[in-house]
Amino acid sequence: MTDGSYERLTAVALAGRTGVYDIELGPSGVVDIQLSTSATARYVAFPGLANLHAHADRTYTVTSARPQGLKDALAASAAARMMFTMPDVRRRARRFFERSIEHGVTRIRTHTDVDPIVGLKSMEGVLSARQAVHGRLDVDVIAFSTSRNDLADDESVARLRDALAMKPAYIGASLNASSAPALALERVLNLSEEYGLPVDLHLDEHLDAGASLTARVLEAARAWARRPDHDQPWLRALRS
Ligand SMILES: [Zn+2]
Repeated sequence: MTDGSYERLTAVALAGRTGVYDIELGPSGVVDIQLSTSATARYVAFPGLANLHAHADRTYTVTSARPQGLKDALAASAAARMMFTMPDVRRRARRFFERSIEHGVTRIRTHTDVDPIVGLKSMEGVLSARQAVHGRLDVDVIAFSTSRNDLADDESVARLRDALAMKPAYIGASLNASSAPALALERVLNLSEEYGLPVDLHLDEHLDAGASLTARVLEAARAWARRPDHDQPWLRALRS
């Protein structure tokens, strides 16, 4: 529909509604929905798909060698990421976005690496690819401090701040590999408050149940929800 034309689909079943409908599609989506004169549906229409956990900067980098466990997978990914350039990230992210559109995806939330290995190349590449699909795919970029960007170190925090200056939609981090996971978590949450950005965390990048940060995240979220300036109905369940 990018040519600005209109199209009428007749005899369509809609997810979540009974009956049969005719749908008019315009350049930017559905224009009109009317009950159809046809009693039998020929098509089924679904809402667009949303991919809430993607890593667009790492797409299309898998080699034929299969990792032999988590440690091996992390080493293989670090080796691949060492080779990243901004145009290379842009090209692969763009290819991933176009493939997603072809499969009915209308929204993607993508973690985008920030660490000493890639610097800001992933952020630059993904933001540029997002520009190329503007109007066709909603891309929410997460500035993602990886397990190689230990937020217990001031240098890593400074690197993440540089990424936050590029105006992502979320702040993200992988925290379990940190030399001080609780401090790293506290710093992410403080940055989230300072920049007014929601948080999307990786809490599962380890194989040790005793190292889980989930209880601390919940505790922090509850403390945040209890603050008088955060008195919103949707937060009430979190306060107890
Ligand atoms: Zn992930």
